[in-house]
Amino acid sequence: MKGTYKKLNLAHLEAVLPQVLEAARQQQWTYETFLERALAAELDGRERRALVRRYKAARIPKPKSLDAFDFPFQPTLSERRMRELGDLSFLKTNTNVVFLGPPGTGKTHLSLSLACLALAVGHSVLFTSMAEMAQSLENASHPGLMRQRLRRYIAPSLLVIDEVGYTKMTQEQAHHFFELVTARYEHGSIILTSNTSFAGWGALLGDEVLATALLDRLLHHAEVVTINGPSYRMKDRQSETTALAAQAAPAPPETGAKSVGVATTGEKSRRR
Ligand code: ADP
Ligand code: MG
Repeated sequence: MKGTYKKLNLAHLEAVLPQVLEAARQQQWTYETFLERALAAELDGRERRALVRRYKAARIPKPKSLDAFDFPFQPTLSERRMRELGDLSFLKTNTNVVFLGPPGTGKTHLSLSLACLALAVGHSVLFTSMAEMAQSLENASHPGLMRQRLRRYIAPSLLVIDEVGYTKMTQEQAHHFFELVTARYEHGSIILTSNTSFAGWGALLGDEVLATALLDRLLHHAEVVTINGPSYRMKDRQSETTALAAQAAPAPPETGAKSVGVATTGEKSRRR
């Protein structure tokens, strides 16, 4: 029997069969129900394994979710719009999503959240930073290798390019970036994050004409989400600084006004 499972590639069913048989005996399943449940167990195992494989291939640095995003902290960002993007219809229309804003406003978090949703429903995804991608394409020593590397970024149904704008591109890198955006145009979505407004992309790519042509393709079918708000990183830093300042502050002089102290403690615990 062992060999049969192997030949039919039913590794998951083989692993869970004792439990399925036990349930079948206890609940007196019909033959039909048994076969259905056994096949469902195999399918479920295969889907879980495929999801793990997709996650690995996507090179997601850290899984994130829209549910974990503090929307009230970022009032210029519409939660409804983000939830709509979360239904992933932008992938069906090969629409791009561009997050623009200063550091710490959640651009990478939101991109990762959409990437994780896409992975969960079976899309292939690749997450890369602009610097990493530019370097990988630049280091291709011959045209064949370059085409192969380019294919790696063209093939997934969703490509996330993080941190466009942190480093100025060389002429060659700008050219490869243009080639990639052109290749994915109307074929597959790109999610892109940048701290540089589009007006600054000419300087970023070192070529105004190339930047205009690239933006023309990138933005033809695109949702541009601009976040103008505070940095979430600084929020953490600020609360740390406040806590440290409170620790460092000298203790208030004992004035005998004990009731005030008691009231303050009570106030604190209520707030918590
Ligand atoms: P950006 O890419 O815009 O520089 P990130 O997405 O990397 O910002 O955010 C920095 C950190 O703060 C990450 O750990 C992210 O999960 C977290 N973060 C940012 N904004 C929020 C938010 N509104 N709610 C919860 N976490 C957030
Ligand atoms: Mg980021």
